[in-house]
Amino acid sequence: MKPLTIRVHPDDNVAIVVNEGGLPAGTRFDDGLTLTEDVPEAHKVALTALPAGTAVIRYGVTIGTANADIAQGAWVHEGLLQLPAAPALHDLPVATNVTHHEPLTGYTFQGFVNADGSVGTRNILGISTTVQCVAATVEHAVARIRKELLPLYPNVDDVIGITHVYGCGVAIDAPGAEIPTRTLRNLALNPNLGGAPMVVSLGCEKLQPGTMLPQSTLPILQSSPYVVRLQDEQHMSFGDMVAAIMQMAKDRLEVLNQRQRVTRPAADLVVGLQCGGSDAFSGVTANPAVGYAADLLVRAGATVMFSEVTEVRDGIDLLTARAANEGVAKGLIREMQWYDDYLAHGGADRSANPTPGNKRGGLNNIVEKAMGSIAKSGSTAITGVFGPGERVTQKGLIFAATPASDFVCGTLQLAASMNMHVFTTGRGTPYGLAMTPVIKVASRSSLAHRWSDLIDVDAGTIATGDQTIEEVGTALFHLILEIASGRQQSCAEKLGLHNEMALFNPAPIT
Ligand code: CA
Repeated sequence: MKPLTIRVHPDDNVAIVVNEGGLPAGTRFDDGLTLTEDVPEAHKVALTALPAGTAVIRYGVTIGTANADIAQGAWVHEGLLQLPAAPALHDLPVATNVTHHEPLTGYTFQGFVNADGSVGTRNILGISTTVQCVAATVEHAVARIRKELLPLYPNVDDVIGITHVYGCGVAIDAPGAEIPTRTLRNLALNPNLGGAPMVVSLGCEKLQPGTMLPQSTLPILQSSPYVVRLQDEQHMSFGDMVAAIMQMAKDRLEVLNQRQRVTRPAADLVVGLQCGGSDAFSGVTANPAVGYAADLLVRAGATVMFSEVTEVRDGIDLLTARAANEGVAKGLIREMQWYDDYLAHGGADRSANPTPGNKRGGLNNIVEKAMGSIAKSGSTAITGVFGPGERVTQKGLIFAATPASDFVCGTLQLAASMNMHVFTTGRGTPYGLAMTPVIKVASRSSLAHRWSDLIDVDAGTIATGDQTIEEVGTALFHLILEIASGRQQSCAEKLGLHNEMALFNPAPIT
């Protein structure tokens, strides 16, 4: 392959090296640029001389200031960049960049309709828990249910225990405790769990079943028992507890097994977008392709969520400009401010992101990472903002505020009612969730080839010029409909990669 670089925006004074393994000093590009030193794959080269104090521009924005003279053709690495201050949260543009997109009609998938109007892409029995104390018992019961009961109910895809480390020894009334509490409630109500939740409680814990999942939430909770409490006096042994969990599971499996897939509009999809293990290609290949698919989904009437506050914080002005109205812009600013305060309280700031792997992948700082991350959200107006763990109740492009940490974000997006997940990665991660199919998109072909059993979509073809952003994005849109319908499984689903969930608890532990 001949020496190649990618420059994203005409104003950029750096470009990234595309070639696998990087390029050596002396490499000459078609436009005459010659490398003065070795530049690793996905890292930046200076397109012009950048004297100390010059703004280094990528994506058309300043990602940092040169803190030494950088020669044309030199490697622009982390040590040469000064991180700019985060944009202020006042005087931001509001709804100045709201573009009109034609609706897309006629796209459907096969889904399971729930009593509350939500639609599942899978038909799973979820067993919720109020407290960590019951986790091992529930996992024991789940293993037996999967082996002994599930084969009797062929329309049910799986059984999962929603176990976690919350529920007791916590300041349950502290500000912030509502986040893990509502997350657990809304996880139990995820569309892929069929509206048939059950709860296993210990008995003496702080988070009581009626607080976590009030009986008024669903008709099934009002009409039949939904809590197994391990400390109840009728349980004379561990065997009794497991038998009680299995009996309630059997009742729920009977209900779930009667359900059939029906044709539903693509508008019933709730697609969560996330990135993890990003590199400098993520923002030019995988994330723009996902953004293109996001635009198609929004045009088809679906809900599309993007998240990861620290990875959009540096582009807040771009987001408020895309807010559909002033209320949405205020919601965005509220969530950014909350997170600024949360980080400051912990003695950190946004520079705590990125990771060492991001940096080896060519992402020098959070500004550069953020500009690439925002590309996932496509180009449509942002129509709603929800806090961490809230259930999203609107269509269109939604900002569902979460940390960027992969499993914390994934867990909160599940609580937000996600029924399909798209995850982009450059460095690679064997990420998977039990509650919803995860489609993984690689930013580089070398990763997609090396991990062909883990990566569903190779967006690296955009860097080499073999495919366009539109082609990869359109193919991803169709793949989402196929996998949502159960006609195909994603790699993570085939392998049964079910990482544990991770609750976000900003409140104190006692
Ligand atoms: Ca992430």
